[in-house]
Formats: sequence, C-alpha cells, structure tokens
Amino acid sequence: MIYIENANVVLKNGILKNGAVLINDGVIEKLGENRYVKSPENALKIDAKGLYLGPGFVDIHVHGGGGYNFFDNPQKAAKYFLKHGETTVLATSYTTYTKDEYLSATEKIKVAMMTDAKNIAGFYMEGPYLNPKYGAEPKLNKWRGKIRKDDYCEIVNTAGTLAKVWAVAPEREGIDGFMEYVKLVNPNAIFAVAHSEATPDEIEKLKKYGINIQTHCMNATGRVGESKGIRSAGPDEYCLLNDDIYAEMICDSMAVHVPVPLQRLILKVKGIDKIILITDSFATGNEISDKYAYAQDLSFDSEGNVSGSRLTMDIVCRNFMKHTKSSICSAFLAASTNPARAIGMDKEIGSVKEGKRANLVLCDENFNIKEVIFEGELIN
Ligand SMILES: [Zn+2]
Repeated sequence: MIYIENANVVLKNGILKNGAVLINDGVIEKLGENRYVKSPENALKIDAKGLYLGPGFVDIHVHGGGGYNFFDNPQKAAKYFLKHGETTVLATSYTTYTKDEYLSATEKIKVAMMTDAKNIAGFYMEGPYLNPKYGAEPKLNKWRGKIRKDDYCEIVNTAGTLAKVWAVAPEREGIDGFMEYVKLVNPNAIFAVAHSEATPDEIEKLKKYGINIQTHCMNATGRVGESKGIRSAGPDEYCLLNDDIYAEMICDSMAVHVPVPLQRLILKVKGIDKIILITDSFATGNEISDKYAYAQDLSFDSEGNVSGSRLTMDIVCRNFMKHTKSSICSAFLAASTNPARAIGMDKEIGSVKEGKRANLVLCDENFNIKEVIFEGELIN
C-alpha cells in the first residue's frame, strides 16, 4: 500500500491542490484532498511536497531508446522508458525489417510482455506498407510494389490482437485488401495514415476500416499535384479537417520535426483532446550530422537524414509546453489521456482516477521526473 500526500494531482480538467492518493493492490483506491483521504498505518507514506502527480505516459509510437530497440531487446528498451514515466508503450516496428525479422521480433516481444517488460501493451506496426518516398532509410525499405497477401498474412496473424495500430500509406496499390485482412484478424485494430502523400479522397475511401490517427502529423508527409504556388491537400490537411482523427506530434527540443508555428497550428485546429504526443524514439548508432549538431535529441538514418528522435516523453512534454505555451494539464492530456483513449485502454489507464491502474508520474513543473509508480510499485 502506498499513500502519497501534498501532491498537485493532475486531473482531466484541472489541478487538485493538496491532493492525496491511496494505492492498493496496483490500483488507485482513493483520491481526494489530504484532509479527506487518510493514510492507513501500514501504508508506505510519500510526501510529494507540492510536486505534480499525473497519469503515467502512454507512448504509442516508440521504436527504442537507451541503446536498445524494442524489436531487438524489448526488456531493456521497456525498462529505459519506464524510468522516464512511460508506464505504457506500444513497441513500434519499422520498414527495414524483413518478413522473418517481423515474425521473430513479434514473438520475442510477446514473451517479454509476459515476463519483465509489462509496460509494453502491444505493437504499433509502422509498416510494412508505407510510401518509401517519405521514410528514413528509403534504400533499406523492403516493402515496395503491389501489396501481396502471401507477404502479410503471417505478419498479421503473428501480431494478432496485440497489434493495436497499423500505419499505412493509403496510396499503396492493394492496401484495401491488407486493411480488410487486419480487421478480420483483429476487429479492434485501428489504422494510422503514415509516410504518405495520399489525397483526401484516397484516405476517405479507406475510412470504413477505421482510420483514427495521423502518424506524426506534418512530418514525413507530402501532397501531390502542387504547381506554381497552388497548394493541394494531403494527409496533413485531411487530419486537420476531420475531427475524429488524432494528430500524433513529435516535439523535439529544437522543433526540427515540426516547426513551432506548425505545432501551434495543429493544436489550434485539432484542439487539445485530439493531440497525441509521441517520442518516435530510435536507438541507432548513426552519427549526428553536422547540420543538426545543435539538436541533440534527434536520431539519424545511415544516410544522415533525420529519422525519429532520442526523446523520452518527459522531455517531449516539456518541449510541448514551451513550444505551444500549454499547461501541464494539457501536456498530460496529450501524453497520457488521449493516447490511452485512442487505443481503447482508457478504462484502465490514462488518468488519475479511483479504480484505475496505479500508473503515475511524480514530477516538477518542468517535467523533471522524481518518481514513477507502475501498477502500484515504485520504480526509481
Ligand atoms: Zn515514422
């Protein structure tokens, strides 16, 4: 049993000052002001001293970090992110994997999830069917040409219901059949438009399968048919226009992935409830190119192109607050509450509420993490 008192508890629509939380059996049993929620004698007592207590981060789009990718070493990657408050992650794949690599990695992660990487809640399959024109490592992308059932059946079957999100480029030939098959295997799977230059019409045709997310909005996307200053519409515009689509956002410190005015534009149009902060973190050994020497939290592919980040969600939240002038409540909404809802886990996680899993982050106003609680256990 853990009892935390004197916290600024981050709720969905504000801060509960002088708040206390009683955690029992991995669950938030009681929540309220200090004077109403008393500590049982046998509880471990923590004085939060005015720190913020918010819901553990839900990073749905993270490839790896701390030297390890989820698809190579899920245990170590999961542990690294947990220390940074990421109490839920979706292990995220990429297009550089062969079919066999997809299969063996998926099995490996499944085993890790049952043993010592319990903060992995499933997979975010970024690929195989993206548009190679808009990806890092374009030369290493093995998934080109017409989409064939022989290629994807085993991958979809093996990932099963743990594949919560499939990222797709709607313009790929044969994508329709692939999406139909994914839904057959896992009716709860959702799709994200990713690494794409699809027109709004192309995206609209696939809406029946459930396109609910745009993968890193305003990053790695294009628009066809532009000429002489005449702008056309692509995935970014489709996402901005459609209220039921969440916009993933990468907020690196120097706003390289998404410039600050575009971050503000996305927030202004979508509203805070439809923003999902992601790290899109990779563990690559590739060197930082001179051009980006000032931006230490980026990651690069073997050709020197920006390819995701080295971020963790605590830093993402700090950057988001700085770039968009948002409150700490908004940052927790975008980093925890919204992603939990998007992947259908909001009944269990994503907010500080009685009855929910005790996945919590204790931090100061700049998201310096002081303690992480995962399923009722102290982590740091
Ligand atoms: Zn991506």
